[in-house]
Amino acid sequence: MSDAAHLAPGGEDRAAFSGWVETAGVLRDAMDQPAEVSPKGVSVISPQVDNQLTQVRLGIANSLHAALALKDPARAAHTLRVALSSSAWAFARGLSSNQRDALEVAALLHDVGVIGVPDRILQKPGPLDVDESRIVEQIRTMTVAVLRRACAVPEVLQIVAHVGAWYDGSRPGFSASGQQIPLAARMITVVEAYDAMTSDHVSRPAMSREMALAELFGCSGTQFDAELVRQFVELDCCDRPALRREVAGRWLRTLDPDRANRHWLLTPTTAPASPEEPHLFHVQLLDHMYDGVVFVDANLLVTQWNRGAERLTGIPGTAMRGRRWMADLIGMRNERGKPIGEENCPVFSAVQSGVQSLRRLTITGRNGRTVAVDSHTIPVTSDDGQVLGAVLLLHDASPQTSLEHRCQTLDEKAKRDPLTQVANRAEFDRHHAAFVARYRERRVTFSLIICDLDHFKQVNDTYGHQAGDETIKSLASLLKRAAHPEDVVARYGGEEFVMLCSGCDNATATARAEQVCRTLARTPQPKLGGRSVTASFGVTEVQPGDTPESMLRRADRALLAAKAKGRNMVIQLGAGSNFQPAAPAAPPDKQRPAPAVEAWLVTAVPVRIAVEKLRGFIADHQAKVLSIEGNRVRLLLNEQVGLLRRRSDRPMKFLTEIEFEEETISRNSDSRLEAAPVSRTWIHVTVRPKRHRDRRRAHAAERTREVLLSLRSYLIATEAQPTAESSVSHKTFPALAQWLADP
Ligand code: GH3
Ligand code: MG
Ligand code: MG
Repeated sequence: MSDAAHLAPGGEDRAAFSGWVETAGVLRDAMDQPAEVSPKGVSVISPQVDNQLTQVRLGIANSLHAALALKDPARAAHTLRVALSSSAWAFARGLSSNQRDALEVAALLHDVGVIGVPDRILQKPGPLDVDESRIVEQIRTMTVAVLRRACAVPEVLQIVAHVGAWYDGSRPGFSASGQQIPLAARMITVVEAYDAMTSDHVSRPAMSREMALAELFGCSGTQFDAELVRQFVELDCCDRPALRREVAGRWLRTLDPDRANRHWLLTPTTAPASPEEPHLFHVQLLDHMYDGVVFVDANLLVTQWNRGAERLTGIPGTAMRGRRWMADLIGMRNERGKPIGEENCPVFSAVQSGVQSLRRLTITGRNGRTVAVDSHTIPVTSDDGQVLGAVLLLHDASPQTSLEHRCQTLDEKAKRDPLTQVANRAEFDRHHAAFVARYRERRVTFSLIICDLDHFKQVNDTYGHQAGDETIKSLASLLKRAAHPEDVVARYGGEEFVMLCSGCDNATATARAEQVCRTLARTPQPKLGGRSVTASFGVTEVQPGDTPESMLRRADRALLAAKAKGRNMVIQLGAGSNFQPAAPAAPPDKQRPAPAVEAWLVTAVPVRIAVEKLRGFIADHQAKVLSIEGNRVRLLLNEQVGLLRRRSDRPMKFLTEIEFEEETISRNSDSRLEAAPVSRTWIHVTVRPKRHRDRRRAHAAERTREVLLSLRSYLIATEAQPTAESSVSHKTFPALAQWLADP
C-alpha cells in the first residue's frame, strides 16, 4: 500500500471518532486555528489546558516544556502546535502508537535548547550579529544536550537531532540526507516550517496558508521530502475534523504515567530521587538555566535551589537546602502586594493538594528591591498518584511588568479608535508599511479596501450625531466580521474605513468588498428607524513598484470613482501583483473582436491541490460548472461577481475551459536519496466572452485576459510553455468530477 493510502482514516476509525466529540471541543477549536497565537503569544489553548496536554504527553519532562514556556512563550506555543499537527499526521499515515509517541515528544521538545539563549538575543527586533547568530545556530545542539541530560531515549534524540535537516543534505551542520533522515524528523521539519510561515514573528507577519503551501511545494525535493509535503497538504484537504477529534481524544486521555514516561530512561522506578543522591544530569541542567528552579519534598524541605534562584533572590543554595519552605523566606507577595501565608502559598497547595499554578507574584530580590516574577508551581507525583513534592519555577518578569505597566493602557489608547474599537489611522499606517515591505521582500500579496458611508451628513442632520455614531459602529462591525485573522481593519477618519486583506488578490478583495457593500445596504439601522445606509468602496491589490502612499492613492481614486458613478458600489483599480507587462502587442483596436485568450499555466502543486484551488475560484466567482469530461472542466463566469469590471460596463459572461495535466519530474538522479518524484500541474486555459457581440465591446480583450489573470492567481500558477523535456502525463483523473462536485 502506498503511503498516500493511509491519509484518509478508514471507516472503523471514523466510527471510533464520534465518541470523543464532546470532550475534545477545546482542543479541536485550537487545532482549527493552527497559526493563531494569542496577542501575547503565550497559550495555544489556555495555560491550564496547555499544562494538562503537555503533562499527559510528556510525563516527567513536563517541566522542560514549562521552562521553555517561561523563557519564550511564543516558541512553546509553536512547539505545542507542531506536536498536535504531527500527531494528527502520524495517525493519518498509520504510524504505530510507539512511533507516534516518540514523534510527539520530539516535536514538543525540539526547540527546548532555546532556554540556553539569552533573552537579549531572543527578543532582539533587528538582525543578529555574527556572535548572536552563532548562538542561535546552536539551538539544535543545545536541545539535544538538554534532552540527553534529561535522559530522553535514543529514538527521541535521533529525531530531534535531525529536525531541520534538508532532504538533499545541503544544510550545513547536518550529515544525513534523503531517507537516512528519520521519518519523524522529516515530518516535523515540514510541520514546523508550515507553522513558522503561518505565524506572526517579531520581524515579519504571518504568511497566508495558500502562500505557505506553495512555498512547501516550491522547496520539495531540496529542503523537504516531496512525498511528505504532498501528504501533509493532502491532509489539509481530507477529513480534518475527524483527525482533530482523534488527536484531541489521544492527548486529553487521563494521564498514564507508564506511557508518558516511557521516553525517559530515568523514571522514578529505575532511579529513585533521594536528597542524598541527586540526579547529576538534572542538577547540571538546572544550574545552567537562567530561571530560578526550586524543588521541595513532601515535607516541604528545600532539596534543590539552583543558581538562577540564587541570582534572583540573592540567597545562596547552601543556606536554603534542607530548610522548610515558607513563602516569606523570599518575601513572596501576591498579585495585590499582600504577603503570602501558608493558606495561599502555591508551593503549599502543590504539595498538599496537587494543585498546579501559574501566577504573577513579587519577591524580594537580591538587592532588597521588589522583583516581579512569573511563578509556575508543579506538583511532582509518583506512579500511584502520591505527591512527592513540588517544583517551583521563577522567571524574572520585571522587565515585562514595568513595560506592561507603562505601555498597556498607553499602547491600547495609541492603537485603537475609541468609538469602534478597530485600529486607528496611525496603527493602520504602521501595518500598511509592514504589508508593503513584506510584499517587496517575499512577494506576499495583499489588497486594500477603502470605504466611506454615502450621504452621511444627511444622516447626522436628520437623526442626530448619536444615531450617526451607531451607524459608524455598525459598518465597523460588518468589516470586522468580514476580516480574516491576519487582516487589519481600521477607522481612517470620520466615516471612512480601510481594510488590509492579507494574501488577497484584486479579484478576491473585490468580491469581499461587494459582499460587505450588499450586506450593509440590507442591514436595518435601529437608530435610523430601521432605515439602512450604503457605502462606496475602492479596492486595489499591491503591485510592483508600489509604496504605501501610491497604493492608498489608487484605492482612494477607486473610491472617488465609486462615489462619482452613483455610490453604493465597489470599484477596483490596478492590475495586481501578478501583473506582467504584455508583450509589445498590436496597438489597441477597440473595434477588433476579442479572440479567445489561451494560455498554459504551471503550478508547483499536484493536480489534486490545483483542483482544490479551482474550487475556491469557482466559489468566490459563483461560476457555473457546465461540464466535466475527463481532465477538462467548462465554466460559465459572470462578471457581476468578483471580476475586474468597471461599473460603467455592462457585465459580460465568459466561457472558460480548463484542462489539467500532471507532470512528474525525478528531480534527484542521486540514487542515495531515493527521492519521490516531484509532480507539478500544467493547466491549459481558454477564456472567451460568451456572446459574439460582447467580443466587440470596449476592453473585451482586456477583460477576457483579466479572467485568466484571476484564475492564475487562484491556482498560484505562472504562465509558461511546456518544453520538449516536460514529461506531461495525459492520464485522466477519475476523481476530477468528484473533487469539483463535493460541497
Ligand atoms: P458622500 O457620500 O459624498 O461621502 O457624502 P457625505 O455626506 O458622507 O460626505 P462626507 O464624507 O464629506 O461627510 C462626512 C460627514 O461625516 C461629515 C461629518 O459630519 C460626519 N462625521 C465624521 N465623523 C463623524 C463621527 O464620528 N460621528 C458622526 N456622527 N458623524 C461624523
Ligand atoms: Mg461619506
Ligand atoms: Mg467621508
